[in-house]
Formats: sequence, C-alpha cells, structure tokens
Amino acid sequence: MKIKAIPGSKVSPVVRATLEDMVDAVVMIDANNAITFFNSAAVKLWGLPAGEALGKDFMSLISCEDRTARPIHGSERPDLDIDQLAGASNEVSIRRLDGTMSWGSMSVSKITTAGQADYIAVVKDTTIQRLQQEQFERLSWVVNQTDAAIIATDPDGRVVYSNGAATRMLGYELDELLGRRPSEVFFGPRTNVEAGMLIRNATEQPNSLCGFRQDILVYTKTRKPLWVSIVINAVRDEAGNPVNLIGVLTDITLTKMHEELQENVLGAMVREMPTEDVARILCQEVEHIAPNLMCSVIEVSSEGRLTTLAAPSLPPSVVQRFDGLPIGPSVGSSGTAAWREEAVLVADISNDPLWEDYRETFLPLGIKAGFSYPIKAKDGTLIGVFTFYYRERGGLDVFHERLIEVAVNLCILLLQRKSNRAHIYRLAFYDNLTRLPNRAMLTIKMEQALQDAKDTGSELAVVSIDLDRFKQVNDTRGHAVGDELLGEIARRLRAAVCDGDVVGRLCSDEFILIVPRSDTYRIAYLVQRILKEIRRPVAVKGSALHTSASVGIAMYPGDGTDVETLLRHANMAMYQSKADGRSRLRFFSVEMNSAVQEQAMLEADLRAALHDGQLYLRYQPKVCGEHSQILFGVEALVRWKHPLLGEVPPARFVTMAEERALIIELDTWVLSAACRQLAKWRRCGTDIRNVAINLSASHFLDAGLPGLIARTLRAHDLPPDSLTLELTEGVMLGATTAVLATIDRIHRLGVRLSMDDFGTGYSSLGYLHRLPIDELKLDKSFVQDLEGSDVARALTASVLRIGQSLHMKVVAEGVETEAQRRFLAQHGCPVMQGYLFSKPLSPAALEKWLKTRRIRQGQSIGITG
Ligand code: C2E
Ligand code: CA
Ligand code: CA
Repeated sequence: MKIKAIPGSKVSPVVRATLEDMVDAVVMIDANNAITFFNSAAVKLWGLPAGEALGKDFMSLISCEDRTARPIHGSERPDLDIDQLAGASNEVSIRRLDGTMSWGSMSVSKITTAGQADYIAVVKDTTIQRLQQEQFERLSWVVNQTDAAIIATDPDGRVVYSNGAATRMLGYELDELLGRRPSEVFFGPRTNVEAGMLIRNATEQPNSLCGFRQDILVYTKTRKPLWVSIVINAVRDEAGNPVNLIGVLTDITLTKMHEELQENVLGAMVREMPTEDVARILCQEVEHIAPNLMCSVIEVSSEGRLTTLAAPSLPPSVVQRFDGLPIGPSVGSSGTAAWREEAVLVADISNDPLWEDYRETFLPLGIKAGFSYPIKAKDGTLIGVFTFYYRERGGLDVFHERLIEVAVNLCILLLQRKSNRAHIYRLAFYDNLTRLPNRAMLTIKMEQALQDAKDTGSELAVVSIDLDRFKQVNDTRGHAVGDELLGEIARRLRAAVCDGDVVGRLCSDEFILIVPRSDTYRIAYLVQRILKEIRRPVAVKGSALHTSASVGIAMYPGDGTDVETLLRHANMAMYQSKADGRSRLRFFSVEMNSAVQEQAMLEADLRAALHDGQLYLRYQPKVCGEHSQILFGVEALVRWKHPLLGEVPPARFVTMAEERALIIELDTWVLSAACRQLAKWRRCGTDIRNVAINLSASHFLDAGLPGLIARTLRAHDLPPDSLTLELTEGVMLGATTAVLATIDRIHRLGVRLSMDDFGTGYSSLGYLHRLPIDELKLDKSFVQDLEGSDVARALTASVLRIGQSLHMKVVAEGVETEAQRRFLAQHGCPVMQGYLFSKPLSPAALEKWLKTRRIRQGQSIGITG
C-alpha cells in the first residue's frame, strides 16, 4: 500500500514508513478531526481503503465506549472532539464498511509543532478477545442463572470456579472458595461418611471420572445442613488429560423430605404398624433428614396429659419423667405449646422461663433450643405435640418449618388413626348423639342381665320408651333441635334410673330401659316417674319444647325368656300405648301380637314402591382431565317419589331399608336399573364408560352378591369394568373373612371398587391394603372445608398422595366452587364430582349436558387405572 501525500504533515518519510508497517492501526488526525494518515493495519481494521479515509472526520469512524456505560458514538455526539480523547486510552468499537463490527483498544497522543496540534491514534485490534469475552460472559450469565450450583476444581481438587447458584445455595462467595478443597469447606459433623469417601475416591482418580453421582449431606457457610445430589464430570484437554473437575450440585432436601418421610411413614401406617412404631419411624426419618436436631411425638390426652409416643434420641429415663405430666402455661416447649394450642419456639432453654423446671435434665443432653408445634385433629381439637430439640441455640429456618409441616400432617393421620380405633369401639357400641349404649351394646347388656335373672330367679323388666310426635319436632324445628331434645331426654333418663339399670337408645327416638330384680309394681312406679320427667318442658334454643313418651313393658320370664322376644314384646306394648292415646304405659299382653306398627307401614310402602315404579335413578357425572372436560363415569343415585309424601330423601329411606332388611332388594333394583340404562346409552351411541352404584355395607354379608352382579352384567351384555361399586368404610366394621372373600370375588370379576366417604370413617388407612380398592372418594366434608381449614387442606393433600402411592384413583366429591376445584387440581386430584360440574341428572338431561358442555369420553385415561 502506497503512502498518500498528507497535506500539512510534518512527519518524515522514514517515520511514516515505520508507522505504515506497524501491526497496530495508526491514524493521524489534525486539529479539525480530519484524517491525515491511515496505515495498512487501519485499512484492515476499518475495512476502508486509505484513499477514502483520508480527510474524513475521524470521530465519525469510531464509537468510544466506557465498559460500564453506553457507547458514546462520535456521530451521535458531534461536539466530541479528538482533543478530548488525547492522553488516554479507550475501548472503541468500529463499524466496518461491510457492516461487521471490530473492536480495538485505542490510545491517542497529541503532538504540537509550532503551535499547531496534530494527533496520533494507535488502535490495537481486540476483536477476537472481545468475542471470546462476550461468549464467556453470556455463558457465565447462563451458568449463574441456573439453580444448580456449579463448582469447578483443578485436577488437584482445588476450587477454581463457582457460580452464583453455588453462592446462593451454600453461602460462600467465589473468593472464599478459591484454592480450597470442597470437602474441607462443605463436609460437616453429620455428613454421611460413606458418600464422602465415595466422592473423595472418585475425584482422586479423575482419569476415569464420568458422570459420577452421589447424594450427600453438606453444610452451608452458616452451618445449616443441606441434602444435595452431586454429579461430577471431568473436562479434558485434547490429549484426554483432565484439566478441570466440574461438580453440579442440586438441592434435594425437599425431595428427600417427601420421598423418605412420606413414603416410609405412610407405608408403615398402611401396613398397620403400631402407633408407637410409626411415630418412631417418623422421628428417625426426620432426624436423618435434619441431623442437627432430635424430635419427639407426644400425645395429649383429653384430660390434657402428655404421653410420649416416640423420642428415639432421648434417653428413656428422660422420656419417662415427662409421661403423664399435665400441660400448662410453662411446661417446656411441648407442654406449653399444647397449653397455648400454638407453636412455641424457645431459642435458648438455658434462660427461658418456660424451661425453668426442665433445663437441668435437657442441658446435659446437649439440647439448647426447642420448637414445639401443636397437632390438631380435623375438628380442631388438640391431640398431640411435635417437638424439635436443637443442638444449637437459635431459631428455626424455612427448611425446618417445611419439615415440621410435613411431619405434623403425618402425625395428624397417625393420631387420628389411633383415636379412630377407640372411636370404632364407641361407634360400634355407643350411640353417637346421646352417648348411650346402642342396639349392639344393649343386646350384650341384656344378655348379661337375663343370665343374672335366671341365676337368681328374679324378674326383669324390659321397657320400650318412644317419644311422641318426635318426627314432627324434627320436621318443623329441624334436626338440630330434634338432636338437642334427644340429648336432654337421654340425660333425664340416665338421671332417673339406679345403678345397675341400663338405659340405651335403639334407634331415632326409641329408648330402652332394662331394670333387673324388678316386678310389675315397682317398674310401673319407676316408669310413671320417668313419664313425668319427660313431660317437663325442655328448653331448646330459647323456647320450651313440650314432649311426652309412650311406654311399653315386657317382663321376664312372663312375656319372654330371650332378648329378642322381650324386646319385640316391649315394642308392641309401646305401639299399643301410642294407639291408646300416647303419653302412657302399657304392659305387654298376648293380644298385642297382632298390632300393626307405624314403621311397618312405611316399610310396606317401600316394598310396594320397588314394584310400582315409584323409584327412579339420577346420574351425577364424575369428570377428569385438565379442564374437567372428560367424563370419567357417572354415579347412580336413587330417588323415591312417594304417592302421598312426595319426594322422600334417600338418606331417610335408605337407612330405613337398611334397618328393615330391605336394602338388598333396593340395591338389587338400583344395580339392574343402572345397568339397563348404561346398556341403553351404549346402544344409542352415548358412550358412557362407567356407572357407579352405591351398595350398603350390609349387602356384603350376602355371599350371593358376586353372582348377582355377574348375572346382571351378563344380562345387559356389559363388560365388568363398566361397573363401579361404591362401598363405605362401614363395611370394615363387620369385615369377617366371609365379607372380605365376597369383596375379593367381586374384584376378581373385574368390577371396580370405590371407597365412598373416605376420611370420615373408622380407621382411615389400615384397611386399605386389605381391600382391592380401585378408587377413593374423598368425602365432601373435606372438600367443603378446603377454603377455610388448613387441616382439611393438609389431609386432602395427604389423601391424594396416599391414592397415588397405592395406585388408587382419588375422586373428590361435593366440589361446589372454582376455588375448591383449583386447589384439588393443583394437588393432582385426578377425578372430581359435584354441583360445580353438575347436579345428579335424569338420563335425558345427562345426554344434553354432555352435548352442550362438549364433554369427551374417558377412554384414553384408563378407567381401571
Ligand atoms: P353419597 O354416595 O355420598 O352420594 C353423594 C351425595 O352428595 C348425593 O346425595 C349427591 O346428590 C350429593 N352431592 C353431589 N354433589 C354434591 C355437591 O357438590 N354438594 C353437595 N352438598 N352435595 C352433593 P343424595 O343423592 O341425597 O344421596 C345421599 C346418600 O344416600 C348417598 O351418599 C348414599 O350414601 C345414599 N344413596 C343414594 N343412592 C343410593 C343407592 O342407590 N343405594 C344405596 N345403598 N345408597 C344410596
Ligand atoms: Ca356414593
Ligand atoms: Ca360419598
């Protein structure tokens, strides 16, 4: 390249030739910013021939940039003068003639000769470094944005790099880690030794290192333990020698919590392990996940006393000291949390007054702080306390809060299970409303009393007491008033009798009194007194209710010698006294045997209804899919239109049918009607996959049930998986091996089984693995509490997880609001049912609903899944 004549240049040809050959671009500029010299390196850098460059405004050819600020482009800043750049170096960007960019690092010198200023700019081409740098910045931006902590070491195992996530996760800045070995920094007292060894061995032989993975407990800068999963890889040079080791760390503390805690503890519950054992497993799992603490599960009795169910890391002698201790306003963390019914954190037990009486016991164990959380049952009553004991002073962090939340939810399930067992007994033998012995318990007590009467040769009175016009009270004043009335009558009856007499409740408003060593005279006297007591007005909700009772009496041995006969005869006498004008007593007499009873009439009506077409079915959809647009199946619900009474609610006549042994006939009718309808739909091209029917618990006592189901399906040419049977937990109360065998035979037919009203019943978890259940119907009471109750939400989430882990489809019933639907969907509830989607519909209305809502069929989702 020839050197152009540079007007006004005072540079000698020798210097000029030297400048021309320089590796860096050299440009000379006069005081007016005009280019007077442009060497070949400059030509290359700008992509601009020297001839075009000469005379041009230099400032228009560069953008100066301050690395931290925006580029200051010459042409955008016409006031910028070359003189302002003199004596400094600047990074400049250059737009080449072909539009591409180059970068350079420029220094400008000012030469003044005879009062005239000239400038010389030397620009070093930094384009390649610049591109590399940008790439690196972009890469490290990405690396810093990931949630995975990345730590690189040299082949010797010393840290050379760590990203932003590593700082966020572990608390150390890069400069605190540089040159150190990760094991020195991150391992701590409870790091699992084996995992540590494996990692050390792996990193000591980087040659064979490839995708090594290990879960390990590490410690953050603040000494907080953290479960991480580490993947280690080697970066090699061209010859294959490792130059760096790269470790990618993911925080798995939460996963660990869910996996280990939930699975192991729920698993133990499902296997029906004793409560203490499950509580111990829970504590051990928690201590494994959070090794800097110890924990305990304490039960609180209804009298407010503590019983430790598990505290595996505390010495037994310490645990025993606290058993039976009453809760109170300053009883350590646990007793106080139970007392206040709220979480209690004691950051330093050595000086907190709550620990006054206990610190001497706990400080020598190395325990410095305590956090207790009350465990409350679904109805809000306190049932226990879960406590963390810390080896360090201080508070709890977010992780511990989450851990305690999961642990407390598991405790609720566990303790509810235990109280449910006691509940089974109460439910089985005592009437829930009045707490009086029920029919089952009465039968037992009566047998004992009869035996005693036989042994002593004494008389025994069996008294049937029935409130007059109770139904009227119920219908006009509501069930709550009816219930209160019954409760008060029960109290008066109990108060009126002597020790040794038994009062029980047979069914709704019918009470039974058993009076041993009695005679007609004495019993008549007692009953008159009772009638007077019952006639006394009862104050309910601010008003006085007047009631009376009709009483029938049967005497052993005159009116019968066995329980059943005596009860029947007392009952007949009672009906007679009603027929005679109520509010009086009648002794049994043989003539009464022919008396027609009121109840018997309704029973006869239902029998007739079964044959006269007064019964019919409504169908309520169960929906699934992301937008609840897929039909999972329908549930058939029975309805009765009584010719005189009108619509009778199913709850009322179904219970009556159960009591009067009519239920088998009723359920058989429903089964066959539902199958007939399903077959009809399929013939007409409405492809409904599945119909569910409700079967009463007592139906499973009938060994003929599987045969009946098989025949009905065959008669309508339906595959077995098009039928679901919804049974209630009541089935388990009478779960003899015969009942279980019947259920099993139905399952083997291929018919789906669904546990209805799940969560309300007797023992919510234990029996699940004994029954071949395909579906859990989460009771509507949970769903309806979702918006207002933390416990309902927690239990719902747990039930959904149980369903998942046991491979059962969970159906949430009674979904009425969008908020409920959203919560359920967010927690993975697969199937829903309720007024939000549809009320129970007639077949025609259902067909219309399917069309107008554009509901698709649930073939692809695997109905038996
Ligand atoms: P279930 O099996 O739990 O049936 C669900 C009940 O909840 C039905 O009441 C249904 O109409 C109602 N329901 C559905 N969606 C919602 C909602 O979103 N909100 C509210 N509040 N309720 C909703 P229904 O039809 O009165 O039945 C009451 C109970 O009677 C049934 O409870 C079941 O135990 C029994 N039952 C009904 N039909 C039969 C039958 O054919 N055989 C037998 N053995 N029992 C039946
Ligand atoms: Ca049901
Ligand atoms: Ca239900």
